[in-house]
Amino acid sequence: MSPKSFQFYRTFVPKLSELCDPVVISFDNTTFVKSYTLDPLVTPHHFIHSGNFFSQPYVQKPELRTKERILHLQEKLINKRTDGLMTLNVPVNGDLTTPYWEHVAADRLKAIEASLEAAVWTKENTKRPDLLYAGFEVGTYRDASYIFKKAVSADLTNLSAGFGLFSRLAKYRQEDRLKQFEVLAAYDQLSREFEGTRFHASGGSALNVLELLAYANVTSADGSSAVIAGLAYGSVLTATGKVIRANKLAHWGCNCEFCSGSRPSDVVKELQRSSEARVRHNVNVMRSSVARINDALANNTIAELTEQRLTLYKNKALWKCLDIVNNKPARE
Ligand SMILES: [Zn+2]
Repeated sequence: MSPKSFQFYRTFVPKLSELCDPVVISFDNTTFVKSYTLDPLVTPHHFIHSGNFFSQPYVQKPELRTKERILHLQEKLINKRTDGLMTLNVPVNGDLTTPYWEHVAADRLKAIEASLEAAVWTKENTKRPDLLYAGFEVGTYRDASYIFKKAVSADLTNLSAGFGLFSRLAKYRQEDRLKQFEVLAAYDQLSREFEGTRFHASGGSALNVLELLAYANVTSADGSSAVIAGLAYGSVLTATGKVIRANKLAHWGCNCEFCSGSRPSDVVKELQRSSEARVRHNVNVMRSSVARINDALANNTIAELTEQRLTLYKNKALWKCLDIVNNKPARE
């Protein structure tokens, strides 16, 4: 059996082009290639997403996000550092305010079957079937179990699903996280039955769930929180998985690659002054977490690491997520 590993892809931001950690880009990205034309050797490893269906251009013009157009533009972006392409993930009803698990079964099935059809079509039409990840929007254990098995039977062994969409609505925030891990529990089970499957978790990948993701056999994830927290919210990640506003920082004892080079008082000033500094620190924290996770995977100690980290994070919902992965959730 090949050793398992876990990769994290942060949101790509053109002005941070000198950071070479892996990034996720949309299929219609136009700035990524330009950012590295001066020195193509520093082009980071990247995962090419099928585009956020909830973003403005696609909500207004769904014709911009067809399986054909996604593949056509994704293939233009492929180079030696492309790790994966996600196929068209179809949301339930296009309804952005009702979580997937609250829709009737017929509507949920229609969406996941449409996603599977798109993945099968893409596999038949791409020059690089090896890079494909079949993309889904799925919100229950039963649906996930059903569609992931069907995909693997169609020889689509790399799977992917979008997460975190309903966490923006306060009343669904916690349930959204639990449903994410129901879906991942379904994948975890499948990955034990079929060797050689891979799973990319798109979104819903804050610092404090990375261990849980790897524990559920997820092989890669993408997320925006490290970048968005630093840029838009002026916040920094702590080792305990918290996000704090840089202007509230008093004492700072971080020994990440970025912070360890200067005196703590200077680091605090820099983190308060510069959004780029915050992102650099945040990206370093994510990077150390991923390195620790990969060590644990190689040494078969991911269960211990996950428990250690959850103890540190002190978040009850995350322990529930661990239970969901361990027990396999109750069927609906
Ligand atoms: Zn730091």
